[in-house]
Amino acid sequence: METSSTQQQRDEDVVRRRYCKRSIQKMKLKKRDSGYRENDSSQKPESEEIPPVPQQLLNLIRMKAFREKLKTAPEMELHDPQHCRSCQVKQAELARDDFIRRKTTQLLSPLLEEKIQSHFLNRNSICLIGEVLRDLPRPSDDPGLVWKALKAREVELTQQTDSS
Ligand SMILES: [Zn+2]
Repeated sequence: METSSTQQQRDEDVVRRRYCKRSIQKMKLKKRDSGYRENDSSQKPESEEIPPVPQQLLNLIRMKAFREKLKTAPEMELHDPQHCRSCQVKQAELARDDFIRRKTTQLLSPLLEEKIQSHFLNRNSICLIGEVLRDLPRPSDDPGLVWKALKAREVELTQQTDSS
């Protein structure tokens, strides 16, 4: 590979040098010609005077470009995030987001626990109030029965204070 590459380079150099030499010679000729007919604008150098780029050189350059492409192709496919700047930036961003998310959860969980506890406490108080209200007489109750219940409660309480 190395030897064929240097051989290729040499071939390319030879062709390029030959091409440049020919171009310079033609340009010198053109300059000399135009020196004779300086004021004659109609006598412009014809396009055929410009030497065409040799096909051999074009082929060599095409081959070289193709080989360069082949060389870089595996590098592009074997993308290494450890050595890629944009990947590292993205990883750092994701790590930071994850850290913030975890910390937020950590900080919020005691608050959430507190909320749940207070919710249960409130619920219990409401239940107690409900129980108290259930035992109270209603306006629709028979007043005689209400009085009876109150008297009975009074007797119950008196008995409790006497025994203690
Ligand atoms: Zn990357």
